[in-house]
This record gives sequence, structure tokens and C-alpha cells, in this order.
Amino acid sequence: MVIAIDGPAGAGKSTVARALAEKLGFTYLDSGAMYRSVALAVLEQGGDPVTRAQELQIELGERVIANGKDVTTEIRTPRVTEMASRVAVDKDVRAALVAKQRELLASGDWVAEGRDIGTVVAPDAELKIFLTASPEQRARRRAAEIGADWRTVLRDQTLRDAQDANREHSPLRAAPDAIEIDTTDRTVEDVVTQIAGLARELRR
Ligand code: C5P
Repeated sequence: MVIAIDGPAGAGKSTVARALAEKLGFTYLDSGAMYRSVALAVLEQGGDPVTRAQELQIELGERVIANGKDVTTEIRTPRVTEMASRVAVDKDVRAALVAKQRELLASGDWVAEGRDIGTVVAPDAELKIFLTASPEQRARRRAAEIGADWRTVLRDQTLRDAQDANREHSPLRAAPDAIEIDTTDRTVEDVVTQIAGLARELRR
């Protein structure tokens, strides 16, 4: 079974997806870590993002190992975050990473998180969730995570949201059959319990 979790930055996707995977005994797929790893490779080695994406060898788990190197911490820096959303506009970069994601999702039980899981990567996913939250709330959460001022985060987030929503290939949008959940005033436990309940109903 595949559970797709999409939505904008700071809506709570990673926290919810990770906790949900653990609760259900599913494997967690962080597709953003792939775009981030490509971005890091481009920043460090230069070269064409498409080639970097095609060459990417990635292991996703507790740690993110890209091309044999532990990049878990490095891929979360602001410059990588910014570059990730730039490389993600290229349709050939996307095609290379989507192919890797589909290969992984072909067998087993997954909670897959990203921007285009329900629309492009796994349109047949049994359960599709689109997480949202108010822009201020999303910025505050990110700021607390990285120890930055939330107003600065809000400014960068607005730019990144626009880039993700307006790009030509696979723009961020909810799949028509996705269930939208607003996490603004809700706890992680509450949201995870709701999605786990939906998954159990489907499995019956
Ligand atoms: O989810 P995360 O913030 O780690 O993703 C980093 C960037 O990678 C996003 O801003 C987005 O531009 C891109 N991305 C994407 N499609 C995905 C996952 C991430 O375009 N499925």
C-alpha cells in the first residue's frame, strides 16, 4: 500500500509522514531529500543538474547517504534548500528522480512524502493526503526547527511556495482525489491518528 503525503513546506509533511510510517510499520520515502541531494551535488561538484540527478545513488533511512557520503545534515542548510527548489523546475531532473521513486514504491508498504507524489509519482496510491497550514504557522514551525527568525523564514517560504506552485512541470497541487487536512491548530498525534484511521478503513 502507498500513502502519498503532499503539501507545501512547513505544513508538517515530514513529521507526520515519519510518525505515520512508524505507527503503521511502513517505510518512509522522503522525496525532498532526493532533490536536496542533487542540489548539494551541483553546489559541490558543479556540472549539469540532470546528469547529477541521473547519477544519484541514494540510500534513504535514518541517515541520507548520497553517492556514498552521509549528507543528512548538509542537505538541510538554507543554500541547499534554495538550490533544491531551483533544480526541481527542470523536467529532466524530475524524470530521473521520479523513476527512482517509482522503482522504490513498486513493492512493499510506503508513506511517500513530497509535492507530486499523488499527482505524478504514484497517481494510483490507495490513500492521498494534502497537508496545508497557514503561511505564518508554517514559517513559525520551520523557524523553530532551524533556530531562525520566523519573519525571515516567511519571506523565503513565500518565494519558494511561488516557485513550487508556478513551475511548468509538476507544480504543487492537490490530486483531485486527495483528502485535504489543515494542520494549523492540530497536533502531530492528532493528524497521524486521523490518517492511520483512514488507512485502516481502506485495508479492511
Ligand atoms: O520537502 P523538501 O522541503 O525537503 O523539498 C525541497 C524542495 O524540493 C522543495 O522546495 C521542492 O522544490 C522540491 N521537491 C519537489 N518535488 C518533491 C519533493 C521536493 O519539487 N516531490
